[in-house]
Amino acid sequence: MPEAGYPFSAVVGHDDLRTALLLNAVHPGIGGVLVRGEKGTAKSTVVRALAALLPAIAVAADCRFSCDPDAPDPRCPDAPHAGRTERPARLVELPVGAGEDRLVGSLDLERALREGVRAFQPGLLAAAHRGVLYVDEVNLLHDHLVDLLLDAAAMGRAHIEREGVSVSHASAFLLVGTMNPEEGELRPQLLDRFGLTVEVRAARDVDTRAEVIRRRLAYEADPVGFAGAWADADAELAARIVAARAALPGVALPDAELRRIAAVCAAFDVDGMRADLVVARTAAAHAAWRGGDRVTEADVEVAARLALPHRRRRDPFDEPGLDDKQLDQALRDAAEAEGDGEPEPDPDPPASAPTPDDSPQETKAPPAPQGDGDGKRAGAPDAAFKARRLEIAGVGEGAPGRRSRARSGGGRTLRAASRGTGVHLVGTVTAAAPHQRARGRHGTALELRPDDVRRTVREGRESNLVLFVVDASGSMAARKRMTAVTGAVVSLLRDAYQRRDKVGLVTLRGSGATLALPPTSSVEAAVARLRDLRTGGRTPLADGLLTARRTLAAERLRDPRRRALLVLVTDGRATVPARPGGDPLADAERAAALLAGDGVAAVVVDCEGGPVRLGLADRLTTAIGGTGVRLADLSADAVAGVVRAARAA
Ligand SMILES: [Zn+2]
Repeated sequence: MPEAGYPFSAVVGHDDLRTALLLNAVHPGIGGVLVRGEKGTAKSTVVRALAALLPAIAVAADCRFSCDPDAPDPRCPDAPHAGRTERPARLVELPVGAGEDRLVGSLDLERALREGVRAFQPGLLAAAHRGVLYVDEVNLLHDHLVDLLLDAAAMGRAHIEREGVSVSHASAFLLVGTMNPEEGELRPQLLDRFGLTVEVRAARDVDTRAEVIRRRLAYEADPVGFAGAWADADAELAARIVAARAALPGVALPDAELRRIAAVCAAFDVDGMRADLVVARTAAAHAAWRGGDRVTEADVEVAARLALPHRRRRDPFDEPGLDDKQLDQALRDAAEAEGDGEPEPDPDPPASAPTPDDSPQETKAPPAPQGDGDGKRAGAPDAAFKARRLEIAGVGEGAPGRRSRARSGGGRTLRAASRGTGVHLVGTVTAAAPHQRARGRHGTALELRPDDVRRTVREGRESNLVLFVVDASGSMAARKRMTAVTGAVVSLLRDAYQRRDKVGLVTLRGSGATLALPPTSSVEAAVARLRDLRTGGRTPLADGLLTARRTLAAERLRDPRRRALLVLVTDGRATVPARPGGDPLADAERAAALLAGDGVAAVVVDCEGGPVRLGLADRLTTAIGGTGVRLADLSADAVAGVVRAARAA
């Protein structure tokens, strides 16, 4: 070890996290760990400490892809190999701002052109092979990178297709992602691809907190001495990982426990069969870890608590912790269903009992029920539907997201241009080719000038600011229309959440407009504001649009690259003018025209109902230069696919 890292054995608390990491170290097939928790909970310290416990690996001496000399990857780009060496298992960190080249590797353009060979520069997926790949803030990673990462994790191989060059190499690693849910959630379909998930939070107990601080201070005062004091305990854990790995293939999974796993997963309403497999693997790893030769009910329970909570079908606004109760129930139901099966004697006498301190199989009492859990959502608006994607036309340069098209470092390659991210090989060669004779080229190497270089233009998706202007006036309140409106806006908010947008909310009611929610990344906050929305009174439409305009102008200064989409939800029946004596609707149209002049992309959701249509919202749509959508059309989503609902001015 080059430096004395914080020892794994010295970590106080974090039982679930330690268990999850150790079980993955025993059985890489479990599929990694996602660690959710607030800042300052030493998540990364624990992950780094685990890497130090992993056994050293033998590697082919000349291989940049960490081939095992006894079983080299037959498709390794560095094959054939000679010689061997031994080194510690690596912990490789993927920075959240990394581009695709950094992750999967890149072509060494200079070598490729000057020497006329194709040269592949390995990326982090190669560096992490047979080690740990750690992604802090995985929820902020570009979707495209997350997909590449999880594909490699699932297949144990990385495939790279670049400019006509195809490379494939082994890439099996223990994937650990950490995230702070306050900074945005991971897409549900990505959540599901992590094997285990643990929630970490700082201990609330004074004795535990004091011990955390005591150890931290001791470590900082003398890292080497501190690590030395825990070296034996860490060595014991490391030896136990090795022993459990060796024992794992011999661990039996009795039919009764297999059925229990299936019953728990079915009762917990998970998608697909992946959960069952992960629970089975985790339970087997747990049995091996505690020295047992067969999976028992206790192993299944530990595995289910680590593998299932994030797999339940859920609404993005559900709080993750709330599923504990359902999981308890599913485990009880499964126990009853299996209750008439053969009563198995305890196959593991206490002889194999581990030391109390590091025992990861201590089954903790279920967390205390969260009393306010259900009550908080009592006032929730109508069940939301899946909204159509409203997107801004054109190509932006905003923060990664999932709404509008954008030039980015991570998307798919579109074409070669003089501006862009990486070097586009074919484009560059094509640009240089016509000049070779004139430049007096000799041999195989190209005569390359700087202005020959063509860059790769990639396109991904960006997140936007979606500013809702919601009319909550009397005319809207009539005929229960507001219920449909809040339902629609919640659906749009849910959509915004999944696309990582910032959202804001302006409400119109009575004599003026209110910026009910300044632009924020917290969609939960927006839903909460919407829940408190009171209806009635007159309609200050002009004031609402002017408020929106001021808000957008301020946001442009704060975050210039984030494009904005204004969603106006109204029946258009303006009743309050911008100035005393003005015409309410004409003032609203004038305000809309100002927004159009600013180049704001807008969608007008027309909430007019009833037999007689006045078409006032249509007039606003024209004035704002946007696109009109009927409230009813917004919910007719299932087949609709993509609508280019907004037009940039
Ligand atoms: Zn190799």
